Amino acid sequence: MTEAASPHVMNTYGRVPIALSHGRGARVWDVDGKEYLDALAGIAVNTLGHGHPKLVPALQDQVAKLIHCSNYYHVPGQEQLAAKLVELSGLTNVFFCSTGLEANEAALKLARKWGHDKGIARPQIVVYEKAFHGRSIATLSATGNEKVQKGFGPLVEGFIRVPQNDIAALRRATEGNPDVVAVFFETIQGEGGINGMRAEYLREVRALCDERGWLLMIDEVQCGMGRTGKWFAHQWAGIQPDVMPLAKGLGSGVPIGAVVAGPRAAHIFQPGNHGTTFGGNPLAMRAGVETIRIMEEDGLLANAATVGEHLRGLLQRELGHLPAVREIRGQGLMIGMELDRPCGVLVGRAADAGLLISVTADTVVRLLPPLIFTKADAEECVGILAPLVRAFLAE
Ligand SMILES: *Cc1c(COP(=O)(O)O)cnc(C)c1O
Repeated sequence: MTEAASPHVMNTYGRVPIALSHGRGARVWDVDGKEYLDALAGIAVNTLGHGHPKLVPALQDQVAKLIHCSNYYHVPGQEQLAAKLVELSGLTNVFFCSTGLEANEAALKLARKWGHDKGIARPQIVVYEKAFHGRSIATLSATGNEKVQKGFGPLVEGFIRVPQNDIAALRRATEGNPDVVAVFFETIQGEGGINGMRAEYLREVRALCDERGWLLMIDEVQCGMGRTGKWFAHQWAGIQPDVMPLAKGLGSGVPIGAVVAGPRAAHIFQPGNHGTTFGGNPLAMRAGVETIRIMEEDGLLANAATVGEHLRGLLQRELGHLPAVREIRGQGLMIGMELDRPCGVLVGRAADAGLLISVTADTVVRLLPPLIFTKADAEECVGILAPLVRAFLAE
């Protein structure tokens, strides 16, 4: 049944031919009862794994009380989650939505309005090569991947593209341009292949944004929410953005997005400028509040850091010496292993062997396990993956 393409669902994904039925912790089972170790977490979404014993009753309680009520009314959970995100980020105000692209779309609108408010009629935003910001028309235009953009032109204008980690290139690309309003990037590019911004570069861009009066907007949709061992990956560099889109792991599986803004960007939107029907609904807010509370209670930031280091160390030991393994990189439980050749077939082979992973940017094996992953899980993961990679490279 799961082998055939679905006749009624749009054909938008190259799917692995399995259908998952339920999960517990870092394990999931398919409809035929086969067990998998989950080293993907629904693409960095299932922060607490599956069926978490503290999250499930909280969500059940909320579903029974109130799932949705619209933003016509005050939603106390919004204030609760916003206050928590403000505390963790050092920023000041939050807008809630339901997905990553919506959070980025809101960030782009903030930047443009910030420009218009200053009298800039055609604001421009600096974006990066290999970036991924989503698949709406505006966010795919900000994305640095022709495969994502192909067939959807004309693209949205107003973007200037630069390479990662090159402050001279950023200065050159914006030299004497009074229309620039913001710089927008992921601290660690996810879909682009686990490519990190260097701490020094982050500090230089922060300083340049201050000097020029630009907004620094950091897409932490994938690398944020504790995945790297800090709440937000840019915190490793000791900087703060002006605007930070979040989504994926924030609700541990319940759809949620957020744009967190600092003082410069917190008051750009006024009533009527932006909105969404589902965003900030009581169920999503409860999921966010409980996810963060459980992460704090269970020390999951520290766990992401130590288990991530263990996992990277094991990969390095088992595979790092192979000439076809270009690099093993990442931070915390956001790990990429770049091979010298396209390796998409490894996704299906790993699933056959009982392990869920992804391959991104054609050549990068990507691991994004739930933050409850243990050292034993990491050992099992590499125990399955390493022989598969060795066999694949020997073909
Ligand atoms: C996944 C992702 C998005 C898009 O999120 P959706 O919820 O799929 O719209 C945006 N930015 C980054 C960095 C992502 O990883």
